Order: sequence, then C-alpha cells, then structure tokens
Amino acid sequence: MARIVLIGMRGAGKSTVGRRLAWGLSVPFYDTDRMIEKQAGMKIPEIFGTYGEAGFRQCEREVIAALGGEDAVIATGGGVVLDPQNVLALRRGSTVIYLQAPVSVLAARVTGSDRPSLTGAPPAEELGDLLDQRAPLYRAAADYCIDSGTAGPSVTAAMIRDFIGHTMPEVHVADAFARFLRETGFPDEAKRVAETGVMPRLCAITGHPCRHSKSPALYNALFARYGLDYRYLMLESPDIGVVIGHMKAMKLKGLSVTIPHKETVIPFLDELDTDAAAIGAVNTVVQCGGLLYGSNTDWIGVRDPLMETEGSRAVVLGAGGAAAAAVYALIDLGFAVTVLNRTSSRSAALADRFGCEAGVLDDFYRIKPDIVVNATPVGMEGVGGSLLTPGQLGPDMTVFDLVYTPRITPLLSYAGAAGARVISGEEMFISQACEQFRRFTGIRITGTLVKELL
Ligand code: NAP
Repeated sequence: MARIVLIGMRGAGKSTVGRRLAWGLSVPFYDTDRMIEKQAGMKIPEIFGTYGEAGFRQCEREVIAALGGEDAVIATGGGVVLDPQNVLALRRGSTVIYLQAPVSVLAARVTGSDRPSLTGAPPAEELGDLLDQRAPLYRAAADYCIDSGTAGPSVTAAMIRDFIGHTMPEVHVADAFARFLRETGFPDEAKRVAETGVMPRLCAITGHPCRHSKSPALYNALFARYGLDYRYLMLESPDIGVVIGHMKAMKLKGLSVTIPHKETVIPFLDELDTDAAAIGAVNTVVQCGGLLYGSNTDWIGVRDPLMETEGSRAVVLGAGGAAAAAVYALIDLGFAVTVLNRTSSRSAALADRFGCEAGVLDDFYRIKPDIVVNATPVGMEGVGGSLLTPGQLGPDMTVFDLVYTPRITPLLSYAGAAGARVISGEEMFISQACEQFRRFTGIRITGTLVKELL
C-alpha cells in the first residue's frame, strides 16, 4: 500500500478515522497537529496566540516535510491544503483521501473544542465560509473523497480500505477497463488491470477532434514527475453524454474539455463555479465523491500573460467561447472592453452579457486599444491571414493571439513589425494548463516547467 493521507475540515473525523484505519492496516499513525504541538512545546491555541496563523503554518510545513515515506496513515490539519508546499510533500507516493461532511455535522463535532476561532464568528458560520473557500482545494488535492458525515469512524475506515485496494468489484468492468487502456495506448497499465484488478487513477481530454492535443504528453510527464499513479487519456467523441458516462464508470478524477463540448457539458455537471457560470463555458471537470464540478481555466490563461499590461481599453476579436473567456479576463484586469465580430448580433449578445461595448470588425479604427486579443481561428496554420492590417497596429499596443499554431501567426507578425508587444497563444495554453493541473492534483507548477516539458 501507499502512505494514506487524510485531509478535510476540522470535525471531519481525520484523527478518529485515521487511528482506526492505521490499526486495521497495522501501520503507524501520525497526526500532524499533535506533532506540531510536540515540536512547539505548546497546544495549538497557544501557538496561534503567540505566533499567529503564519507561525502555525510554518511549523506545520516543517513537520510535514520531515514525515517519512513509509507505509502509514497521516491525519492532517484542516488548513493543510492552503500551502502548496504541503500538498506537494503529502501527495508524493501517497493516496490522499478527502473526508467530507456537511457543515452542520462539522459544527456539532467541533462545538466545545479548545481550538481557536480563526474569525471570531460562530462555529457553523465560520466553518461554512471556510468550507466554501477550501472545498475546491481539498477536491484538487485528493485522490478519493469519502463521506464521513453519516457513517461512524469504523465504517468510514472500512470504506477507505476498499478504495485504496483500487479493487474493481466486477470482473467484466476490469476487463472492459483493461481493453480501454490497451486501445488508448497504455498496454502496461492494461496488463496490470487485467492481472490484478488494480487501476491507476485517470484523467482525460475530450473534444471532437482532440487528437492534435498536447495535453496527454504534458500531463503524463507531470504525473510521472510528481510521483502520482495517474494516466491521462484521450476520449475523442462527438457525444459528450457518452464521455461523461465513461468518466463516471471509470471514476476519472479530471476531464479537460475542448471544442465542441465546452457549453454542452454543463447540463451534465452537479456544480459550476462562478467564473464558469459567468463565461458560460467549462474546460475543467473534477470528479469528487461521485459528483462532477465544472470550472473554467481558459480565462486565467488569458488573464495571467496580461497581468502586468498597462492601459484602459481592450478589443476582443470574435464572439465565441474563447472570446467570452477573454472578455471576462480583461474585465477582471480592469479594462474597458469592446467586442468586435464578423456577425454583429453575436458580438452584441456577448457584450450585453458582460456590460461592455460591441461592434463589427470595421469599427476597430475608432477604438485605439491598449490590448488586442484575437479569439477567432483566423491565422490558424496561417490560414485566413490576419483580421487586422499592419497599419492598424502600433508600438503602444499589446497583441495577444489565442491561436497557437503557428506560434507567430500573421497577426503577431504584423504586430511585431509595428513595434507592438506580442503574446502567443502558447502562453494561454501554458497558463490555463498550470491552473488546470492544480485543479486536478492540488500541485502548483510553473509555466517554465510546462514549456520545458512541451
Ligand atoms: P468559436 O466558438 O467557434 O468562435 C469562433 C469566433 O471566430 C466566432 O465569433 C466567429 O465569428 C469568428 N470567426 C471564425 N472564422 C472567422 C473568419 N474567417 N473571419 C472572422 N471571424 C471569424 O471558437 P472558440 O472556442 O471561441 O475558439 C476561437 C479560437 O481560440 C480557436 O480557434 C483557438 O485557436 C483559440 N483558442 C486557443 C486556446 C489556447 O489555449 N491558446 C484555447 C481556446 C481557444 P462568427 O460569430 O461570425 O461566426
């Protein structure tokens, strides 16, 4: 077995369940909060009182970094996932389990404890706010999510034992899964599943087509680098319903969604985050406890490369899904945005949703933007040239072409010649992939690493 790490809110049962699980598996049990108290020579309320939360987190980081890699069960503090260094240290060579329980259960369990309030609010209110903030982090960092709110600790510990066995209960499912892995280019994993019924965890990309995608090579290299027993597959299909069926049957942890499924996937999801709901498109689905959570990292892929850009006016060319993500990102950065599109009804509809200006492509001359984002496919593989002429571009502009093949599109070539700052669509791919990998695994990676691996 691998090390088992339990994460989740205070009151989720990490220590009680962890102790029983360790006993049942005959492995040592470590409780990082108790180890922190031992190292600091004082109780947690005192550590918070004396050194503040920052002091506590520092101590927590040291304790986690010093944990050995032997088989063991480790119960962690509720805020452990706030620190990416901790997540990285805990994930390597481990199975991470998120113990989930409703706020009412958590509040009932912690009432009367000596742990300090972080905000001074009543327990149910504070726990509710903390859970809203932390649930996406727990879901990202976990391999499996288990409900610890209804069953007692012994039953929860038994459920974890079932999960870590990765055992496929029905032979025909294991066979189908092995066949699927063989057909999708993972013969070694297929053999392992067929022989042992033990499966790696899976993520995938879906689209139609998505064969050209760089994501499988990138994610598989990242999984190997961080010691995660995960594989990333390609689920090319014109029918998103079929893909979601596979996702549930094979318990995929994460799904990258590309054209044409970014909007049509939404009705299949149990929860949508606020960014994806505003953009109206999902490119990231995380499965946790049998529920599907949708979010959007495309807008982060547009926002991050533009983070330091000065100015006040921006133009987005196009009015499809990528344009919606770009508009959302630019508004987040404080720019006044005008959407220009070939079909004026579509630019008007998009602008209306976000309260910005709209027009057709010929309106470009009257705007004088600081930023231009091309969110149309024009220029892909050099086809279609550029929607703007060299004379429309100048040295005070930043021109970001979301098209990433070729790296320097005709638009970027004109922009570069006009002295503008140019940003390639590859930057969007890299930034959104860093964020998506974090949502799948809880691990933060840098754009430099992604560039190296691509
Ligand atoms: P989409 O929903 O199909 O929208 C395409 C938009 O481009 C529409 O507004 C369309 O105008 C316009 N358009 C298409 N052909 C045109 C032409 N010949 N002349 C003028 N306008 C044209 O596509 P999308 O999902 O938004 O994606 C757009 C592009 O963004 C993709 O091609 C892709 O290269 C890029 N992208 C890059 C990344 C990345 O990671 N770098 C991620 C996502 C997308 P009408 O409304 O008039 O049809």
